[in-house]
Formats: sequence, C-alpha cells, structure tokens
Amino acid sequence: MSEFENPYFTVSIPFDHYDKIVSKEKSIVIRCKYNCYCYDETPRLTDFYIIKSDFGNITERMIIQELIKLKHNPQCDHMFYEGVSSTPLDDVFDIYFGS
Ligand SMILES: [Zn+2]
Repeated sequence: MSEFENPYFTVSIPFDHYDKIVSKEKSIVIRCKYNCYCYDETPRLTDFYIIKSDFGNITERMIIQELIKLKHNPQCDHMFYEGVSSTPLDDVFDIYFGS
C-alpha cells in the first residue's frame, strides 16, 4: 500500500525522491498542461495549483499530497505522476504525467 494511495493517478517517482526540494520558496505555482495526444480532439484547459509550505521548502511529497487533496484527475492515458520540472518557466513549475 502506497503512502499516496488515491483513485485518480499513480505516483511513479522513486521513493527517495519524495523529499527532494523543488523550491526554497514558501509557495510556488504548478501547472498541468494536458498537452498529450489524449486531448488532441478535445483540448483541456491548463490547471494551475498553488503549493504552500510553512517552512520555506517545497518538496515533491507536498506537491503530491496537494494534488491528491485537490482530486487532480488526468482523465486520460497519462495517469502516472513523474514529477515536476527542475526549474520554473515564467515562475511556474510544470508537472509531468506519463503513460
Ligand atoms: Zn494523456
């Protein structure tokens, strides 16, 4: 049983990456672009989520926990969470899902 059991997506990053620090900021914005082929016919608007930390470090675990809390649902073939971009683009981190 995974720490991140949820019905909508599967976490497929290695266990030792859960505590990887994504940012030293107290809050970041992440985005899911849904730019996979699943949405070629019926485009889906990009989702933006704010991830907050009281301690000033945002980790992969916090992002995953927030995605679960928000019931993030890829609703497509790409339901395996593969992590967040290592550097933000336009102050936003992209999250990646694979199949
Ligand atoms: Zn997809």
